Amino acid sequence: MATKAFKAESKRLLDMMVHSIYSQKEIFLREIISNASDAIDKIYYKALTDDSLNFEKDSYYIKIVPDKEKRTLTISDTGIGMTEEELENNLGTIAESGSLSFKGENEAKDGHNIIGQFGVGFYSAFMVADVVTVISKALGSDQAYRWESSGAEGYTIEPCEKESVGTDIILKLKENTEDESYDEFLEEYRLKAIIKKYSDFIRYPIKMDVTVQKPKEGKKDESEEHQEEQTINSMVPIWRKNKSELKPEDYENFYSEKHYGYDKPLKYIHIHADGMIRYHAILYIPESIPFDYYTKEYEKGLELYSNGVLIMEKCPDLLPDYFSFVKGLVDSEDLSLNISREMLQQDRQLQRIAKNIQHKIKKELQKLLKEDREKYETFFKAFGRQLKYGVYSDFGSHKEDLQDLLLFTSSKDKKMVTLDEYVSRMPGDQKYIYYAVGESNEKIEKLPQTELVADKGYEMLYFTDDVDEFAIKMLNTYKDKSFKSVSSSDLGIEDEANKITNEAAEKENKDLFEKMKNVLNGKVKEVRASKRLKTHPVCFATEGEVSIEMEKVLNAMPNNQNIKADKILEINTNHDVFKALKAAFTLNDNEKVGLYTNLLYNQALLIEGLPVQDPVAFTNDICKLMA
Ligand code: ADP
Repeated sequence: MATKAFKAESKRLLDMMVHSIYSQKEIFLREIISNASDAIDKIYYKALTDDSLNFEKDSYYIKIVPDKEKRTLTISDTGIGMTEEELENNLGTIAESGSLSFKGENEAKDGHNIIGQFGVGFYSAFMVADVVTVISKALGSDQAYRWESSGAEGYTIEPCEKESVGTDIILKLKENTEDESYDEFLEEYRLKAIIKKYSDFIRYPIKMDVTVQKPKEGKKDESEEHQEEQTINSMVPIWRKNKSELKPEDYENFYSEKHYGYDKPLKYIHIHADGMIRYHAILYIPESIPFDYYTKEYEKGLELYSNGVLIMEKCPDLLPDYFSFVKGLVDSEDLSLNISREMLQQDRQLQRIAKNIQHKIKKELQKLLKEDREKYETFFKAFGRQLKYGVYSDFGSHKEDLQDLLLFTSSKDKKMVTLDEYVSRMPGDQKYIYYAVGESNEKIEKLPQTELVADKGYEMLYFTDDVDEFAIKMLNTYKDKSFKSVSSSDLGIEDEANKITNEAAEKENKDLFEKMKNVLNGKVKEVRASKRLKTHPVCFATEGEVSIEMEKVLNAMPNNQNIKADKILEINTNHDVFKALKAAFTLNDNEKVGLYTNLLYNQALLIEGLPVQDPVAFTNDICKLMA
């Protein structure tokens, strides 16, 4: 029989499992039981909803059989089974190809990060077994198949005998080494403990023959050993258990078991709703961002159960986009098993559950913000951007809900602040909430436009995410205070003396400014004397809805419509550079006026991080000055 090679990525993963340094090898059992339970879910659901299949509750179970003589551990299920093709596709390749290479070597070395993230559960069998045999018969098929592999060399598939539908996974355990013992996975007590620890809530019985002491027949004080089949797990789904019965580890184990994430959850929310709407839910906020989170490929959704039976793996209607990072499940008695995807969207009950969940998540986040600031900041660093998109999207219809969950870096101590914190410490004479936009906090700090606001001692919010300014424009005001960019033409900082000198400078230089505007030929809307610059010679201000940062974002979009900000070139009339320009103007030296104007304009571009349109001309201009 020909041995088929694994696909490259599967092989890499397999090698990692074979040579695993991962200490918790025991989780292989969790992974295999979880697959078995999924397979039973599939057939159970079919049987419940398809009258042609006869339904008998007792016929769904998982059985664990250790055999010390053969050194094998067999895990059998009465699930849906796999066809030859499915054996090939499901066990020969990793489903999400590409994802492994994406993570890079470092992450890959630590098995923990891999297991669960990419659905590689099955391969974890190779942490404890030399040879893995899968014998499976699919529902509706007459022929069973045997898949077998001893690791990296590849695998074989051949027809075989199997009476009933379902799957047997046979692990030929590795020989003990000096450092590692695999015998423990043949011991009843050990297997029982592993099952209890990770798979207690599995809804189907996990059966195993265990040795019990029984009084000898007729002899009361003597006992004898006796094998008896027992169900090891309690079968109560964790989400139906009382919160008081559960420990944080139980929630964490469940999170890994369900492959919700490869990290530890930052927070879990357990809900038992028992009023108008009845449902149980366990929701998780992950600690770190899934690698595909901010891409189109990411699918939001919660698992949806109807009275304990899984009806949808990812129900998107349960979560608003701005909470799309939430993982978990919902189980409700009030949902019909047969409901189709399309119908589900219309389902009133589901909509109510979704609303309720949304409310709970928001409340928990607010609580976290209040009670554990550090944890909240960790959360916000990962998913804050999504909340800001939430403020902006749907024409701002969620902004009220989300505004108090936002954090921004403040110019004060470079700490994250809420809008409420900002507004509550505004000095009496400060009219606006000031913000400055740039690529990074360091770059923003150096922006000339911040000079006056900083000089006044006002705090500024630093916007470094593309979405920030858009979200803020959508908010428009917070607690009756408007937002104001430090680059806007009118900062609303009235200083009588400043105003008078500014008006004078404006008047005095009117002709020169007009000339400069002509030199720049439509590139700026106006040239003005700056009220805000203290030490820098020049900067841009903007008027109207679109700021320079927004112009950058909009123009980077694929369907860019060449939207431009209305730029005003602001000149520091007290600066020596301006004095030189003015002298040239007085002497009617048009060439010099042109040269200086262009240089100042290009400097303003550079400060904003905008490209200089003609770098060659710009350097030539500098050369002219230096020569
Ligand atoms: P995951 O379970 O995350 O998809 P696995 O590598 O554990 O990844 O399993 C790959 C696939 O193999 C499963 O998605 C399932 O389709 C199939 N599979 C694994 N074990 C069984 C089983 N006991 N019965 C039926 N199908 C199974």
